[in-house]
Amino acid sequence: VRRNPQEPEFHQAVQEFLESMEPVLVRHPEYRKHAILERLVEPDRLVSFRVPWVDDQGRVQVNRGFRVQFNSTLGPYKGGIRFHPTVNAGIIKFLGFEQTFKNALTGQPIGGGKGGSDFDPKGKSDLEIMRFTQSFMTELQKYLGPDVDVPAGDIGVGAREIGYMFGQYKRIRGGNEPGVLTGKGVQYGGSLGRTEATGYGCIYFVQELLASRGLELDGRRTVVSGSGNVSIYAMQKAQELGALVVACSDSAGYIVDPRGIDLELVKRIKLSEGGRISEYVRERPHASYHAGSGGIWSVPCEIALPCATQNELDAAAARQLASAGVIAVAEGANMPCTLEAVHLLLAAGVLFGPAKAANAGGVAVSALEMAQNSMRLSWSFEEVDRRLHAIIRDIYRNSVDAAEAYGFQGNLVAGANIAGFRKVADAMILQGVV
Ligand code: NDP
Repeated sequence: VRRNPQEPEFHQAVQEFLESMEPVLVRHPEYRKHAILERLVEPDRLVSFRVPWVDDQGRVQVNRGFRVQFNSTLGPYKGGIRFHPTVNAGIIKFLGFEQTFKNALTGQPIGGGKGGSDFDPKGKSDLEIMRFTQSFMTELQKYLGPDVDVPAGDIGVGAREIGYMFGQYKRIRGGNEPGVLTGKGVQYGGSLGRTEATGYGCIYFVQELLASRGLELDGRRTVVSGSGNVSIYAMQKAQELGALVVACSDSAGYIVDPRGIDLELVKRIKLSEGGRISEYVRERPHASYHAGSGGIWSVPCEIALPCATQNELDAAAARQLASAGVIAVAEGANMPCTLEAVHLLLAAGVLFGPAKAANAGGVAVSALEMAQNSMRLSWSFEEVDRRLHAIIRDIYRNSVDAAEAYGFQGNLVAGANIAGFRKVADAMILQGVV
């Protein structure tokens, strides 16, 4: 805390992680000897830079950009770019720290990184987005390369922004290196299935959780927070498997549709028109809109999927969910549950899928996109989806096994932490003190 003042999200992520490490350090004294934990909590580097751009009124605006290259033990730095006014060094560091272990869990050869800016894309014109994004990449490109650091999307950064970044990268660096970014359009090197991957992966993880108690998703009342990339494709796969998704949200409020969310309508409002989720009830008058996004966890459900942002599900929400009989909670977003909420849910016997494992599908398919780019070929949607499903099953199995091996039976928070940590830590020892 003294070394990293004013970074509460980073402290939270590290604390959650360290809670799982005690028995690992007892059984493997070599990790202490090589100061693995001390080295892991210190990123390789964090760059911060000015992003000047000109808005539609001709005024000069200045934002701050970040890239944290956290750990490259297993491969090139890999992790998304977030455009959101709350972005600061502490948030980028928490995301980069988590990303290192998530990426290790996928079994793919990728290290951990993360980046972003405090730029707020809401209400900006397409040209403003392009000018900002080009300025951002003009500085960021100094640190990137297909074998060095490979960003992707995150909150506020989708296929459009990745396209503008890729265009600017090529313009500055010359040549054509599609492997420098993932989440690209399928027209120019993107992978089929990447858009859907995080949401689909989260549902595949829920299937594994439920199967451990002989249960299925079919017919289960499900609540999914957010209505962005992760939420939409989590809802899509859940509905495909027969779940009744009754609520979703955006940062202003949530909707409840007892007949089941009309996903095509949500996609139209949020993806095509860039509108607010409140508009849903205009076309579906039997549904209801409630201001304030946090209230979504008061909607009774059996499956709860926080897929919006960090710390959106707190202890009060966890109590509400548990007393309403929730069976499983899986984190589609990064660190959406507070530490206290996680402890409460685990203590209540709720099946819990931590972010590192439950939302690893996105980065797993990003790694598959890098592999396809290197081979200069593209796999079918079915091929990518099959590989995604297999990777998520492996992550689940490895997390369960690690939890059992270190005395955390049924606690996949600890299991995922330990399984990811051991991969990185063992490889760090082999690479010497660097
Ligand atoms: P998007 O920008 O596509 O969507 C974010 C959604 O969350 C929007 O609907 C936004 O609403 C909503 N939101 C933001 N803050 C709140 C809040 N406080 N309460 C309720 N809703 C809120 O982002 P993604 O879907 O890509 O990312 C969501 C989460 O998933 C993040 O934590 C991200 O790090 C994580 N993640 C994403 C991956 C990916 O592949 N995209 C991979 C792994 C993790 P509004 O429209 O009002 O802003």
